[in-house]
Amino acid sequence: MENARNFYINGNWVAPLEGRDFDVINPSTEEAAATISLGGQADTDAAVAAAKAAFPKWRLSSKAERLELLESILDIYTRRSDEIGAAISMEMGAPIDMSKTQQSGTGSFHLNAFIQSLKESEFETPLRAGAEDTRIIQEPIGVCALITPWNWPMNQITLKVIPALATGCTMILKPSEQSPLSAILFSEIMHEAGVPAGVYNLVNGDGPGVGSQLSAHKDVDMVSFTGSTRAGRAITIAAAETIKRVSLELGGKGANLVFADADEKAIKQGIARCFNNTGQSCNAPTRMLVERSRYDEAVEQAKEAAEATAVNSASKEGRHIGPLVSQMQYDKVQDLIQKGIDEGARLVTGGVGRPDGLNRGFYVRPTVFADCNNDMNIMREEIFGPVLSMMPFDSEEEAIAIANDTDYGLTNYIQTTDPERARRVSRLLRSGMVDINGKGRGAGAPFGGMKQSGNGREGGKWGIEEFLEVRAIGGWPVE
Ligand code: NAD
Repeated sequence: MENARNFYINGNWVAPLEGRDFDVINPSTEEAAATISLGGQADTDAAVAAAKAAFPKWRLSSKAERLELLESILDIYTRRSDEIGAAISMEMGAPIDMSKTQQSGTGSFHLNAFIQSLKESEFETPLRAGAEDTRIIQEPIGVCALITPWNWPMNQITLKVIPALATGCTMILKPSEQSPLSAILFSEIMHEAGVPAGVYNLVNGDGPGVGSQLSAHKDVDMVSFTGSTRAGRAITIAAAETIKRVSLELGGKGANLVFADADEKAIKQGIARCFNNTGQSCNAPTRMLVERSRYDEAVEQAKEAAEATAVNSASKEGRHIGPLVSQMQYDKVQDLIQKGIDEGARLVTGGVGRPDGLNRGFYVRPTVFADCNNDMNIMREEIFGPVLSMMPFDSEEEAIAIANDTDYGLTNYIQTTDPERARRVSRLLRSGMVDINGKGRGAGAPFGGMKQSGNGREGGKWGIEEFLEVRAIGGWPVE
């Protein structure tokens, strides 16, 4: 890859000032797929300076100008979508077919949704009818640091870069050092689309380096972060000194409440949702709570579904799950599976070690635990692997109490054919999002969590508002 070692700063691909080589490991083979540079303070400073210098002009760009730019990015993105899918598959292990559709497809999905939301956005309005002399002006917050994880690389990059552009902010993207290749291609798209110099910048780096430097930087007005609760906490602390806005999308431990009247397919769909992307989704339904009358049948169905889940190389076509992203994630997931066994959960299928026939690559066995209780590590910690923890419940109140008994609050799931119950339970679940009977949310719906799942909202009009300052001007001359 031509620009693998370079950064994109002020409209040019440049060599790092303080770069250190870093191998991007293909998790299917454990071999280096590319070598990138991890930047240092001088690179961070150069990118922030470019974004700062570009802000006064870009903040005054018109909505029409910004819409035209987003349309152009969408056109080029669509043309290069398969290439992005292939890069994601290589860098983080999503199977190639899934990567070219689901992973890469999130980018065009969000671009389309933000174009619609920008068309509908009004950045200047009177306070209300009868108070026209108070003007409400929403304007871009300024220089934004966008720090993203590796699990859905293009999803998270477009959920941040596109609304930042749409509002007139300037930015520095620091993608995960484990999935930088798709971000480099994305930066080439930004260049080709004609994003003005300095408006969008890319610096590769790790958390303790460029990540911390951006979070603490005095010329950065906002950090938008997606990743672990651990890093979210560190960023918040680093950002406190300069009182910058910090928007956080963190981990989750979603509960899937399966009531006795749930559709036949609910269990199978629940496990497919849990194992998609090899379980590496913050909104995965990893705790399956089943009403007791259907519990034994559900455990049997989950076992069958897990055993029917094929595991294979990301480069192979077809419907299977790939490896985990890294040795570190592999070790963490192995450790949590062992903890589940040690704590007395019933191992229904899977377990520690690699699946048969796969001796190299960060592959894990699709695993189901039954008879869990809510004190176990496998019910409390985000495992981030294809591991489902099941537990029975006896009443609606008990199911809601178990679901809410977690530090997280991202997405919960309800399976029932009773519409009244679906409405009642969804109102009582403490999470930013609820999915009923496998139905996703509409394009432009806000994505985000409560409690330690974070405080940000991404997507649609809420995602645009994250990047705006609200100003009130009294005595506005009315025509
Ligand atoms: P991570 O927190 O280790 O890394 C995420 C990003 O933050 C990377 O770019 C990394 O370099 C950077 N980073 C790490 N430490 C940092 C620090 N101290 N200061 C600044 N930046 C730092 O997470 P990960 O392992 O890449 O991703 C997995 C986690 O992300 C999971 O916990 C998952 O649930 C969460 N996630 C949340 C959402 C959401 O929208 N809520 C979406 C995807 C992933």
